[in-house]
Amino acid sequence: MSEQLIYDLGSPGRCGVLLPDCDVPQEAIPAELLRADLDLPEVGELQVIRHFTRLSSLNYSIDKGFYPLGSCTMKYNPKLNEDTARMPGFAQLHPLTDGAGSQGALALMYQLQEWLAEISGFKAVSLAPAAGAQGEFAGILMIRKYHVDRGDNKRTKILIPNSAHGTNPATVTMAGFTAVELPSDENGDVDLAALRAACDDTVAGMMITVPNTLGLFESHILEVVKAVHECGGLMYMDGANMNALMGVVKPGELGFDVMHYNLHKTFSTPHGGGGPGSGPVGVNEKLVPYLPGPVAQIIEAAEEADDAPLYGLVMPEKSIGRLKAFHGNFGMHVRAYTYIRANGDEGIRGISRHAALNANYVRVRLQDTYKIPYNRYCGHEFVLEGHFEGVENVHALDISKRLMDYGFHPPTNYFPLIVPEALMIEPTETEDKATLDGFIDAMKKIAAEAHENPDLLRSAPHTAPVSRLDEVRAAKQLVLCCRPIPEWAG
Ligand SMILES: *Cc1c(COP(=O)(O)O)cnc(C)c1O
Repeated sequence: MSEQLIYDLGSPGRCGVLLPDCDVPQEAIPAELLRADLDLPEVGELQVIRHFTRLSSLNYSIDKGFYPLGSCTMKYNPKLNEDTARMPGFAQLHPLTDGAGSQGALALMYQLQEWLAEISGFKAVSLAPAAGAQGEFAGILMIRKYHVDRGDNKRTKILIPNSAHGTNPATVTMAGFTAVELPSDENGDVDLAALRAACDDTVAGMMITVPNTLGLFESHILEVVKAVHECGGLMYMDGANMNALMGVVKPGELGFDVMHYNLHKTFSTPHGGGGPGSGPVGVNEKLVPYLPGPVAQIIEAAEEADDAPLYGLVMPEKSIGRLKAFHGNFGMHVRAYTYIRANGDEGIRGISRHAALNANYVRVRLQDTYKIPYNRYCGHEFVLEGHFEGVENVHALDISKRLMDYGFHPPTNYFPLIVPEALMIEPTETEDKATLDGFIDAMKKIAAEAHENPDLLRSAPHTAPVSRLDEVRAAKQLVLCCRPIPEWAG
């Protein structure tokens, strides 16, 4: 169907609602309150419903198809999570309700903190941060306060591998530290010699993602942790890739001091469209007093075994403070709680095992068609190079755009920065073999097309509602208007 604006559908006198009889005296609306330029269309109910339903279906989403966006864990959001998050006792609870009136919500927060601590091997968890990036910020502020409290004021640097997500150096800078970039070695691990050379008494800590943004588990992670601890620094784990580790590796047991979780990645809460997210932080004993608050705690043990204890909210003793109004994004806590409870411990372990199985299946089936740097057993995602020997001017972006014609959301483009023409593919555990095979077939067809008819890729997508946009301008100068674009925006 050709693009039809709702403004073209209207005709005078059409109406989509039946208003009840007026039961107050009718008055004419004062002329100064009427706007001549507000020419709203007059449309019927069906036209309105069809217009908005059609618009909504133009958007690609995880509910419409495969979404292999690496580093983001765009997985199925169980509808059960939505049911529980909408239960009136959770959804309609006022954030200022006192402890006595909110025991159920506090019990849920407490239990979720405990489960997250168990999954990652940490001593305590705060659910306060609103996203992964805010969890990072909380973690680095805790590290800073830990050193300052000990009178150790000379530590000004945080070490970060060059494969890191951009939020890591941004966090470090915002917290007042200097980010020191470390190179990767030929296996995609941190270069140990460079790390050891950088370790001295000005290092406050290190931020590292495990498995890293190439999807690879750091082969020398214990040596990395040891080197940083020996020079007095603390270890921050960026836990965005926990989807690969659950039930298999506990970061706390590897020696990490602090980590953030992305509930909107690993724990299936909705993701995209700008949030809301949730980025709890877990810490070992050293950092418990510094956690951001409030934190749910048992403030009075149950008298009888069958009774519930009394839960309350507390600010940890030397807390870095609040990061967000009230209690974090509570709706996300309900969804993550539901997800963990519905899966159980064996289910949680199965999630990570299947995520790694799916990623390795796609990797191995594409390794003869695409160049895969650091081609070894991966976690939940892997990175390939989106270009072909002997084909000029076909880039990762062209492959991504062509994938849309085959009905797939593109993988992450041009990240991590250390791989040329990077395409980062994360299938997630929730996709079946038939879907993965369909994606692999499309990737192979596109590789053949690149050699036979590269213009097909360069001019893709051919089936999407809009073709190539100026993506920067579309984001920075968003025109939320369905009428012809005004002069000033064109
Ligand atoms: C997503 C991600 C982050 C940031 O998390 P947000 O919730 O988007 O703020 C940090 N590091 C890595 C490796 C990530 O993938």
